[in-house]
Amino acid sequence: MSMRRGYASYGCQTLSEQDIAAVVRVLRSDWLTQGPTIAQFEQGMCARVRARHAIAVSNGTAALHLACIALGLGPGRRLWTSPNTFVASANCARYCGAEVDFVDIDPRTLNMSVPLLEAKLIEAERAGRLPDVLVPVHFGGLPCDMAEIARLAKRYRFAVIEDASHAVGAEYRDEPVGSCRYADITVFSFHPVKIITTGEGGMLLTNDQALAAKLGLLRSHGITRDAAEMRAGTEGGWYYEQAMLGLNYRMTDIQAALGLSQLSRLDEFLARRRTLARRYQELLAGLPVTPQAGAPYALSAFHLYVVRLTHAADRRRLFDRLRSMEIGVHVHYIPVHLQPYYATLGFRRGDFPEAERYYEEALTLPLHCSLSDEDQEHAVACLRRALLESGSGV
Ligand SMILES: *Cc1c(COP(=O)(O)O)cnc(C)c1O
Repeated sequence: MSMRRGYASYGCQTLSEQDIAAVVRVLRSDWLTQGPTIAQFEQGMCARVRARHAIAVSNGTAALHLACIALGLGPGRRLWTSPNTFVASANCARYCGAEVDFVDIDPRTLNMSVPLLEAKLIEAERAGRLPDVLVPVHFGGLPCDMAEIARLAKRYRFAVIEDASHAVGAEYRDEPVGSCRYADITVFSFHPVKIITTGEGGMLLTNDQALAAKLGLLRSHGITRDAAEMRAGTEGGWYYEQAMLGLNYRMTDIQAALGLSQLSRLDEFLARRRTLARRYQELLAGLPVTPQAGAPYALSAFHLYVVRLTHAADRRRLFDRLRSMEIGVHVHYIPVHLQPYYATLGFRRGDFPEAERYYEEALTLPLHCSLSDEDQEHAVACLRRALLESGSGV
């Protein structure tokens, strides 16, 4: 039953009895929120991705927002990201009143293009409009070229937030994404379609002790109960201090228990996703589609399996036909700058042509751990049939 539903969507969770038992244990415990399971999940993730500090929050968007606040974004400041992403990667700057701009993508990896980033930085330096924060997005789970981005971050003095919502378990030059070797902060999302899930959930990773402390405060109203952090010490057992303006972006222990259990299954999930991706590559041979290219320095977590259609004009018909056959195709992403909200900020069609061209040709095929080999073969057979019907020259 869950298999049928999973089959018809591009991505979904894979829950086990172990996951369910972990959640039930918390429900029977004293702590539904602000309890010990959150720190256990944070420590488990730190160990896994080799980061010093982790801050679990209510979702990936909240994580991006807190990262922007902690790095000082505000009016008059600027954040740059990829147009080929979910809107949250850009919205986080707008929550702070900062400006957003984009760097177009590499048409093969579909990630932010480093040469275009460098060219834009040179121009921005001349104009005195360098970014304060860059948000590279590991699209589909494929890491961006972070060493190159870190080199530019040093040269042009901007901070880096890795949006690794797609990339829990991915590796860059044999280093786990999230280690923050090349970034100030890395952000994960645990939405059910992502690699591991907590229902809703997110996490920030950093190696910077001061940033971690600030993020911990910001997650919970800016309030501290630690006497050592108070201005004039405590006034009694009831006393707390609000040091800054924070939010309530806490994760619950219920969610953290699910996350911890899912984390223990991460290798199993990654192995299955990578197997399915390899099989797609073989099954799609000869069809007029081009999968997202890999990169020699990266091991993708394969959150998404996206292809570019050779005949973009057929995309809509193909999409509708595949949906009518209950194949869970999707499209990732509508370029963020084309959203009506971003048009009100002055962005126009033609601003980021590679992302726009990719969007016209893009199709996401189902990829998740509840997809069987037979489901996948059926999906490709349906794609082949739909391509034939549309006259795409199969
Ligand atoms: C899912 C996602 C987010 C937001 O995560 P939520 O947990 O849904 O808030 C941000 N960026 C990207 C690229 C995503 O895919």
